[in-house]
Amino acid sequence: MTDIANPSVSIQDLSLNFGAVSVLQTLNLDVAEGEFIVLLGPSGCGKSTLLNCIAGLLDISDGRIFIKGKNVTWEEPKDRGIGMVFQSYALYPQMTVEKNLSFGLRVAGVPKDEIARRIARAAEILQIEPLLQRKPSALSGGQRQRVAIGRALVRDVDVFLFDEPLSNLDAKLRSELRVEIKLLHRKLENTMIYVTHDQIEAMTLADRIAVMRGGVIQQLDAPQTIYNRPVNRFVAGFLGSPA
Ligand code: ADP
Ligand code: MG
Repeated sequence: MTDIANPSVSIQDLSLNFGAVSVLQTLNLDVAEGEFIVLLGPSGCGKSTLLNCIAGLLDISDGRIFIKGKNVTWEEPKDRGIGMVFQSYALYPQMTVEKNLSFGLRVAGVPKDEIARRIARAAEILQIEPLLQRKPSALSGGQRQRVAIGRALVRDVDVFLFDEPLSNLDAKLRSELRVEIKLLHRKLENTMIYVTHDQIEAMTLADRIAVMRGGVIQQLDAPQTIYNRPVNRFVAGFLGSPA
């Protein structure tokens, strides 16, 4: 089901060092168009670093990154055609929800009526229409995270990068939003690279899971395959069925 002939995102021999420390090591990953990939691994294994490299927020030490067939290795983040959602909501506190959604578009020079159209669409999909004139301080955690997702949505891009978007929420909200993200992906059919250290999130959301450890992808497979046939003890311990 995954067409890797024309990957939406292609990471080739990517390495990243912080000083003398190698954080990502000659990493390769092809993500198919419309695929939901989860990067799963313990804290410190390099998930956020990898996502930030794809987003262009970090300069890589070696390798190449292609998005939709274009070499974006040295492109500015804004020119990469990606939308990113972070763990912390990173909303502008002084702006209304509507302004939070429109700000980046206004900076990018998107025409007013186009901005209005995109906000209306995102607000409908995420069911945040009644919240548009509120400030972030008047929103619940789940509502804030919907707005944060909305900011990626209005960019009208095909590739979304999510970095632990649910980890600050309580268990009930987490499971609700997990379902919403799944439905959103079905609806938009966008390419998703989603970082988490939560096995349940990975199992329920992913088309394929990349299990990471120490800056290396240990196994890249469908959830059931990883669960039933982990390639090594680490993967088994982290996600596999009890031996
Ligand atoms: P994860 O998201 O999987 O928890 P990170 O990608 O944040 O892991 O971090 C991977 C490794 O890189 C960790 O060992 C972390 O300490 C290190 N690291 C992250 N950012 C920096 C930085 N700016 N400078 C030096 N080391 C860093
Ligand atoms: Mg992280």
